Amino acid sequence: TIILGIESSCDDTSAAIIKGNAILSNVAATQAIHVEYGGVVPELASRAHQQNIVPVVHQALSKANIQQNTISAIGFTRGPGLLGSLLVGTSFAKSLAMSLDVPLIEVNHLQAHILCHFIEDANPKPPAFPFLCLTVSGGHTMIVLVKDYFDMEIIGKTMDDAAGEAFDKIGKMLHLDYPAGAIIDKLAKIGNENAFTFNKPKVDDYQYSFSGIKTSVLYFLQKEVKKNPDFIKENLEDICASVQKCLVEILMNKLEKAAKDLNINEIAIAGGVSANSGLRTAMKENEEKLGWKTYIPKFEYTTDNAAMIAMVAQLKFERGEFAPLNISATARYDIEGNFFE
Ligand code: ATP
Ligand code: FE
Repeated sequence: TIILGIESSCDDTSAAIIKGNAILSNVAATQAIHVEYGGVVPELASRAHQQNIVPVVHQALSKANIQQNTISAIGFTRGPGLLGSLLVGTSFAKSLAMSLDVPLIEVNHLQAHILCHFIEDANPKPPAFPFLCLTVSGGHTMIVLVKDYFDMEIIGKTMDDAAGEAFDKIGKMLHLDYPAGAIIDKLAKIGNENAFTFNKPKVDDYQYSFSGIKTSVLYFLQKEVKKNPDFIKENLEDICASVQKCLVEILMNKLEKAAKDLNINEIAIAGGVSANSGLRTAMKENEEKLGWKTYIPKFEYTTDNAAMIAMVAQLKFERGEFAPLNISATARYDIEGNFFE
């Protein structure tokens, strides 16, 4: 079965074609406009989606070398995300489904981040149920118990900022472009991760908190810059490496505790921050240290992409789970499937 997937929840307009579990094309238009503002401006994001969506879908079709009339269904991101952004993808998906007379399939963006692991080339082998998935992105940080494709339970989550948000906000303090996660990762590779240390938050069980470390980095930088105005420039790589080490340790400590308590050794990561090389290395190390079987998605399936949306649409197609044409996008839609219109 050939399915078109469309993703427009935040600032990337993406379209992908899937055949069975194999991705034939996965195209994205990244919106450069937000860099000058240091964050995503919702109004500008919706407009850019409006401009990008038709060319991106055309490109996905031509790269996959297929005709519109061979598509069996259209999957789209219903939520969560920015409402104005979601509306563009949702309206486009509905119109195209109507004109091609094919079924429409709604996809939860968070479930999709996790279910990207079932794309044929995401891993050498997909995870086995039940598995734990550390889902870390720009808007979410949670440990999810994945009992089945569409049966997910949140074991613990952040009480304040998401991990990606922490990377981005600390990046801003370091005068790096938005989004800073990947830039910090790159600079960290040539820095000394033991140069500086930051206090870790004390929170219960499997919960996370990232606002404290953000503040502690801010105070640290303010203090050092007062002594030496060039402190950031002169120590950028070391600061990045130290911050990344701290964030990765926070993420891994809770994940290790959850894996031990629940006695699960199938462990996955997903979401934009799962692209982080420090996190990926820490996961791999636990294969030997703790006997984990780890699932680390291919890079192109970590940050927002339509391939993961197409994958979920394929799974729902097999189950005959179609959406009515009057379905609406929803900005708040949790991983367990609850939504708030
Ligand atoms: P959500 O999925 O929660 O709605 P989102 O879709 O905006 O949020 P993603 O696209 O999944 O988020 O991830 C984007 C985040 O990932 C950004 O915060 C970005 O800085 C971060 N990120 C991307 N690459 C890396 C990296 N190599 N290291 C650390 N963080 C990274
Ligand atoms: Fe995302």
